[in-house]
Amino acid sequence: MTTMESLIGLVNRIQMACTALGDYGGDDEAFSSLWDALPSVAVVGGQSSGKSSVLESIVGRDFLPRGSGIVTRRPLVLQLHKIDEGQEEYAEFAHLPDRRFTDFSLVRKEIQDETDRVTGKTKQISPIPIHLSIYSPNVVNLTLIDLPGLTKVAIEGQPESIAQDIEAMVRSFVDKPNCIILAISPANQDIATSDAIKLSREVDPMGERTFGVLTKLDLMDKGTNALDVLEGRSYRLQQPWVGVVNRSQADINRSVDMILARQKEKEYFATSPDYGHLASKMGSEYLAKLLSKHLESVIRARIPSITSLINKTIEELESELDHLGRPVAIDAGAQLYTILDLCRAFDRIFKEHLEGGRPGGDRIYGVFDNQLPAALRKLPLDRHLSMQNVRKVVSEADGYQPHLIAPEQGYRRLIEGALNYFRGPSEATVDAVHFVLKELVRKSMEECQELKRFPTLQSTIAAAANEALERFREDSKKTVIRLVDMEASYLTVEFFRRLPQEVEKGGNPAATTVDRYSEGHFRRIGSNVSSYVNMVLETLKNSVPKAVVYCQVKEAKQSLLNHFYTYIGKKEGKQLVDLLDEDPALMERRLQCAKRLELYKKSRDEIDSVSWV
Ligand code: GDP
Ligand code: MG
Repeated sequence: MTTMESLIGLVNRIQMACTALGDYGGDDEAFSSLWDALPSVAVVGGQSSGKSSVLESIVGRDFLPRGSGIVTRRPLVLQLHKIDEGQEEYAEFAHLPDRRFTDFSLVRKEIQDETDRVTGKTKQISPIPIHLSIYSPNVVNLTLIDLPGLTKVAIEGQPESIAQDIEAMVRSFVDKPNCIILAISPANQDIATSDAIKLSREVDPMGERTFGVLTKLDLMDKGTNALDVLEGRSYRLQQPWVGVVNRSQADINRSVDMILARQKEKEYFATSPDYGHLASKMGSEYLAKLLSKHLESVIRARIPSITSLINKTIEELESELDHLGRPVAIDAGAQLYTILDLCRAFDRIFKEHLEGGRPGGDRIYGVFDNQLPAALRKLPLDRHLSMQNVRKVVSEADGYQPHLIAPEQGYRRLIEGALNYFRGPSEATVDAVHFVLKELVRKSMEECQELKRFPTLQSTIAAAANEALERFREDSKKTVIRLVDMEASYLTVEFFRRLPQEVEKGGNPAATTVDRYSEGHFRRIGSNVSSYVNMVLETLKNSVPKAVVYCQVKEAKQSLLNHFYTYIGKKEGKQLVDLLDEDPALMERRLQCAKRLELYKKSRDEIDSVSWV
């Protein structure tokens, strides 16, 4: 094989491998870029201009649906692979990887069927390509793309937008700077009306990657010829124009075979009075060689950039594989180790959130510094200690026998009632911190890349962490309620010691007795209780956060997964395997990555070897 053949063959193989991996036309940019970086040849032209016929004669086999009307309704990506002389020719579809076609009429049928499978048996079109590979000793290595013909009007059964749809589809192929355009124009029409030239001029204004092909030379009116076009006088392109004579519909109907058709084409040019002098530069065979030679030079020029793209992609794939993690070990010890390792990874992130380094832990401080004091301030203590209420509570506590000096029972009830209000904000503090912690667990879980692989383990750890947080919350609640109750259960001696003195401040004990049911008396009681309650409030403002940190935050930091560790320590064999059950999507992704990596590495090796020949 010559360097040229192997170069193009190499590109073909890479493109084919890309196709097999679904990289072609995929939305995965990183991966479709290798395909896009490699040159391909697309056939463009009006309907029935002879596109499919040209492709067939380049290939030298009948296999494409042809005829009048819109026959080609999906892009056909056709890869030609040259094989050694004497080997059997065959074709393969990407959508039927296990089937080798040796009967080319079945290939045609499959193209039709596969077209219908996507578009239905209507005259609709679809941009989803069909991939076909042909292996033959009689082809040159090439990738060709057959496209639906450009039209002007929608016919019965087609949407109004068909003309624009087809043009958009064709454009999506020929817009790519690596696409070589085979612009097909029929010779029996004025070149000025050629759809192919019109489009190619737009996407390739310098005519650098456009090959003008003139079909149906045999159908020109007697006495006219296409020399102006073929000799580049009508429309100049950088590449020479090539004229071809394909089989007519009558030939097709009579099943004139390809070999005979090529021979007839050769004869046509050799004996033509008009084109005889150009005979060596006309015809399908010449066109195929010309294309293949052009491709070679394009590929040569692109090799450095293709190589660097391949190297870059290899790097990306390797880092993605690292990221996805290597396959899991099989023995139970290693599995347990992996699980514990993953727990630690999660725990580390969680701790960073709490202690700083990652955001979120500060919200706990926010609860203590803003939420708790604000909630305490909002308590209806004023209402509770209003004159009316104090009078009511004190009187009720006294019963039928009014108090003499200080209403001890009344004080107790007023204080107990006030302190009762503290339960709400204290419990709310516990809950608020609980939700912060829960959120941090969620975040840490999300940020723990290593765990992403194992959704089962991930949710088990998450559940265990949340369960632990729930336990800490319960404990914390009990503790803060206890703190509040403790404050209510015993009123400090200090307080009561101060009370009679205050009463005596009035001087005259008789006056005090008279005063006993006046507003001033109850107001004084209210303000005494209020100062005691405020003192307790200041204490709780400090002791509730302490309790919460002690019961929840510190516990979360130190023993969030302790229960889980005990639980996991008792598991064995199968149960560990179940926990390390990987996300199928991820396993698939790893497999794809590995396959791609292999392809890219192989491509790199091949390119290295070819470019040194
Ligand atoms: P497409 O729609 O552009 O793919 O065109 P086809 O390849 O299907 O050809 C349309 C019709 O034109 C078919 O009947 C072909 O036999 C006929 N045809 C194509 N090229 C030539 C040619 O060079 N000479 C003659 N006589 N007929 C041709
Ligand atoms: Mg066609």
